[in-house]
Amino acid sequence: MKPAPFAYDAPRETAQVVELLAKYGDDAKVLAGGQSLIPLLNFRLARPDRLIDVTRVPALSNIEPRDGSLVIAAATRQATLERSALTAQGWPLLIEALRYVAHSQIRALGTVGGSVAHADPAAELPAAFMTLDARFHLRCARGARTVPAAEFFVSYFTTALEPDELLEEIEVPPLPGGTGYAFVEFARRHGDFALGGAAALITLDARGMCRHISLTLLGAETPWRSPQTEQVLVGNPPDEQNLVEAAHAAVQGFEPSGDIHGSTEYRIGLAETMALRALRRALDRAHTGGRPT
Ligand SMILES: Cc1cc2nc3c(=O)[nH]c(=O)nc-3n(C[C@H](O)[C@H](O)[C@H](O)COP(=O)(O)OP(=O)(O)OC[C@H]3O[C@@H](n4cnc5c(N)ncnc54)[C@H](O)[C@@H]3O)c2cc1C
Repeated sequence: MKPAPFAYDAPRETAQVVELLAKYGDDAKVLAGGQSLIPLLNFRLARPDRLIDVTRVPALSNIEPRDGSLVIAAATRQATLERSALTAQGWPLLIEALRYVAHSQIRALGTVGGSVAHADPAAELPAAFMTLDARFHLRCARGARTVPAAEFFVSYFTTALEPDELLEEIEVPPLPGGTGYAFVEFARRHGDFALGGAAALITLDARGMCRHISLTLLGAETPWRSPQTEQVLVGNPPDEQNLVEAAHAAVQGFEPSGDIHGSTEYRIGLAETMALRALRRALDRAHTGGRPT
């Protein structure tokens, strides 16, 4: 199939992107890596009159430290983030998550912001950003606003972005030293979208008790960050019994849709297994000061 005709803009400045979005709103779509949008156009599931290509704007392709946080401009390619030494040093959870995103050819074109704005329920980066308490900086002609990850993902393929808004940057706060991390998932073949997966962070205090826990499951309407897991573990020893209880608590209220690849019940069971694996691996790394084991 070929897409319906569309006009194409390739601005060089963020301000021009914002102006075009203000002018065309609902009739336009941001084009980033095209790895999700182009198939939708080719199948004519989307028929925008105009595409605004954001990959020619230098300011939108950048990774930098800012006041201790990691700031990723939205059109940064996934492969660039995967190879970033700064990210590997301070936010290795993102690198581990990226290795599960499709195949290297797709990551070479797909952008970080495109994955987040597309909000596929099985996507890895939204779950990783939720775990990391990331903040999303949005801009439009009416002004700029910042939305925390917990409010950004609204439903299947739906985010807080308005039609005239650009996702400009993603800001990831620093992690306490020695935080253990893990991203695990199960897919039928490597590179396929996951049937289930989990991202975890564990920080221990000086006595070896859990000081901070963050666990997110992917595969439901939005990335599912479980407050119950945090309640089970924070202030308590991360022994095997507590990890098993925390993984079980994580799937309370978790409602993935079933399909031909797996029923809802199967996906809940898989998510619990993934949660336990992620917690165990994050704990191992917390014991080695946050380094890979
Ligand atoms: C075969 C295949 C396998 C894949 N497997 C996986 C996988 O396992 N896991 C996974 O997570 N993804 C997977 N993907 C999707 C891939 O990661 C895409 O790159 C990603 O979903 C979209 O990023 P993009 O830059 O290509 O965005 P595009 O396709 O260009 O855009 C996607 C959507 O986001 C909007 N958008 C993009 N950037 C912005 C912005 N800055 N501001 C506002 N709106 C914006 C667009 O308007 C569009 O609606 C796969 C893709 C393919 C083709």
